[in-house]
Amino acid sequence: MEQNSSFAQSASCLKQAVPFMVKYQIPLSPMNYALWYCYVLGKEPELNKKLEQVLAEHSTCPPEQAKALFDEFLSEQDLALFHEMSDLVKDTLNNVEVEINNTLSRSEDFSAVLSECHVGLHQLKKQNVEAGPEIYNDVLNYVSKLTQESIVMQHNALCFQKKLEVAYSEIKQLQVTLSDAQAKASTDKLTELYNRGKFDDDIVKFCNEPSSYQKVMIFIDIDHFKQFNDEFGHQRGDDVLRKVAQKLRLHTEISGQAYRYGGEEFCILISFSSISEAVGFSNKIREDIAKLSIKDKESGEVLKHITASFGIALFGKEMSWHSLVECADRALYLAKSHGRNRVEVAG
Ligand code: GH3
Ligand code: MG
Ligand code: MG
Repeated sequence: MEQNSSFAQSASCLKQAVPFMVKYQIPLSPMNYALWYCYVLGKEPELNKKLEQVLAEHSTCPPEQAKALFDEFLSEQDLALFHEMSDLVKDTLNNVEVEINNTLSRSEDFSAVLSECHVGLHQLKKQNVEAGPEIYNDVLNYVSKLTQESIVMQHNALCFQKKLEVAYSEIKQLQVTLSDAQAKASTDKLTELYNRGKFDDDIVKFCNEPSSYQKVMIFIDIDHFKQFNDEFGHQRGDDVLRKVAQKLRLHTEISGQAYRYGGEEFCILISFSSISEAVGFSNKIREDIAKLSIKDKESGEVLKHITASFGIALFGKEMSWHSLVECADRALYLAKSHGRNRVEVAG
């Protein structure tokens, strides 16, 4: 019971902490989780005050401030909180398992009574009915025993079902809250592509995954985007970002993953069998983006074409993910300096 209430309390704190973290775009790391869990608990008023000051100033809690607050108010032990949550889920599952075993053993008891009564009644049937009216008492005893046992059994089954339902909905809610939060935390609001935080996580996995294909990173940067903003305003600039993002999403529907790296920069992580395939793929997207334009809202006249430059880098055996990003960046720089609206591969 105590375990259940502490589970419910922790689950409720988690449910409150996670939406805050999403709202302020705080990565769901154990350190941040411990910090926000503590914030929701409200047991450290000074921490809450300082955290609110940081939020007022930055509209988020930058990693350096989060680390400083963590060091000031929490300890490494508090990192265990996040792991504790998964332990609590495990506890709930263990409790359910214990209940299943109890119910099974109770049903074994019931089976034993059932078979005892069955044998008893069968023997009575074989006896001569003229043996006397007491035989009816014996029958009634068996029937009454069976009735009582059935009632107990029904009650046990109902209790068990209720406990299962509670455990199921608690775990389900926790799972939904966490996966919603994780999806929101890794998505860029404007373009709905994966964001930089997700890229930072994925690039490490991408580089470490064994693959017989050629792993490729493609940097994409919209050309002269500052001019768009200056000439047509930020809102139309935002429309351009959404349109370009839509193209990237379309081209990575079957394979690859597109991200908004930051500002008007995007990137794609993808695998190919050869470098020429990567170049062909990039050129197709480039041509597709070049079909986009800013039109006069009334006359429909094309005011400006949208183009983007592409930098491709291949992941080599001795490379780190840092050097893959550097190479793609260098290739992009080359595409810019060679005239823009073109694809370059890192040498
Ligand atoms: P280049 O061809 O060399 O890439 O030139 P550029 O003008 O695209 O590059 P620069 O880095 O000079 O400018 C990028 C601009 O992107 C500046 C910034 O205002 C704009 N920008 C960044 N994020 C957003 C955004 O979310 N919305 C809008 N509308 N503009 C943004
Ligand atoms: Mg640009
Ligand atoms: Mg740029």
